[in-house]
Amino acid sequence: MGMFSGYSAVRAGASAESGETPAERGSVLGSFTNVAQLMNRQIVLRRRPTGLVAPGDTELVTTPAPEPAEGEALIRTTYVGIDAAARTWLNDQPGYLPPVQIGEVIRAAGIGEVVESRCDAYAVGDVVTTLTNFQEYVICRNDIFTTPVPGPQDKVDQLAVMSVYGPTGATAYFGMVGIGKPKEGETVVVSAAAGATGSVAGQIAKIAGARVVGIAGGPDKCKAVVEDFGFDACIDYREDDLKAALKEHCPRGVDVYFDNVGGPILDAVLGRLAPKARVVLCGVISSYLTGEHPGPANYVNLLAKTATMQGFNALDEWSRFDEAFGPLRRWSDEGKLVHRQTIYEGIESCVDAMNGLFTGANIGKMLVKISEPKNG
Ligand code: NAP
Repeated sequence: MGMFSGYSAVRAGASAESGETPAERGSVLGSFTNVAQLMNRQIVLRRRPTGLVAPGDTELVTTPAPEPAEGEALIRTTYVGIDAAARTWLNDQPGYLPPVQIGEVIRAAGIGEVVESRCDAYAVGDVVTTLTNFQEYVICRNDIFTTPVPGPQDKVDQLAVMSVYGPTGATAYFGMVGIGKPKEGETVVVSAAAGATGSVAGQIAKIAGARVVGIAGGPDKCKAVVEDFGFDACIDYREDDLKAALKEHCPRGVDVYFDNVGGPILDAVLGRLAPKARVVLCGVISSYLTGEHPGPANYVNLLAKTATMQGFNALDEWSRFDEAFGPLRRWSDEGKLVHRQTIYEGIESCVDAMNGLFTGANIGKMLVKISEPKNG
């Protein structure tokens, strides 16, 4: 069972749409794959990186694709999602998942299609999200890491699943709706506003009737934040005087700050809080490469403004993800919520894409296309 918890119970038995079992669906959707002849390219960790991942930290290796045992299915990866957390797993430090060990394939969440199944929960052709890791084929089981995507399998919008109807969208939803709680007329600031989480979080605040100001790096990103994602304004933190720009764009102070970056940007926004402000600590990407977390001097403003600052981990809400996907889907259908992706091509580009999160190479969700989706 995985993140679409409400759906997977149905999917493990008969399809809600067709009444077919996975095996029966497989005979319709699937095509014969000779697994014994498949080769699997993988990126393994050779040395723990310091800073950006450097040549020699990883190696691209080719091995035969694994054959599924009883209770397992073989997935062909279509897209690997590039998340900041994946870089933290390369450090030798505890987290909510253990560090990737030297010699192991780099861990990452992605999406793919079942090419062979000896597991009752999945049929050939099913689209699933799972820990694909940086590799072309992966074995999955009927466990918490793997989630069949609901709905007709030949119509799955895999980019939308990776950008909105998965952990990224759920993070934006639970952080903004559950903790930020923006109200009509309030001022909301979102950092890494052109990124996967920030772009969705800001749009949710807009839907709530708030005035939404993004912070992003560079003119192209600021343009996308306003023109594509519909924010009211966007501050270029690389060019603008952040303190002055916050004063200009948030004249009555900041009621909600959705923080993806930490560091000096967090400090600057803390200096501009409105009374009873809510600061949502979603991520600290400015310090993942160094591991150093400089304290914000302006935290004293939390006291002066009787404000709150709360961290959260979206995975704590795993069993409630469906609660987020309903409204997210409705807003998308109504044209109020859009998503974008930056897509690198091929397994060879996974490390560049991972580094790109830290150099700001992406607008929207950072993905690597590993193979062509057949369903969707
Ligand atoms: P993303 O926003 O799509 O990409 C990361 C962006 O961060 C980059 O494009 C870059 O944009 C910005 N950035 C990188 N280094 C920076 C720096 N030193 N200062 C300021 N901005 C910097 O990535 P994402 O996957 O959506 O993740 C965003 C944040 O959410 C991360 O901190 C991540 O850890 C966090 N997150 C938290 C949870 C949770 O449960 N709490 C779940 C998922 C993700 P610019 O070009 O604009 O700088």
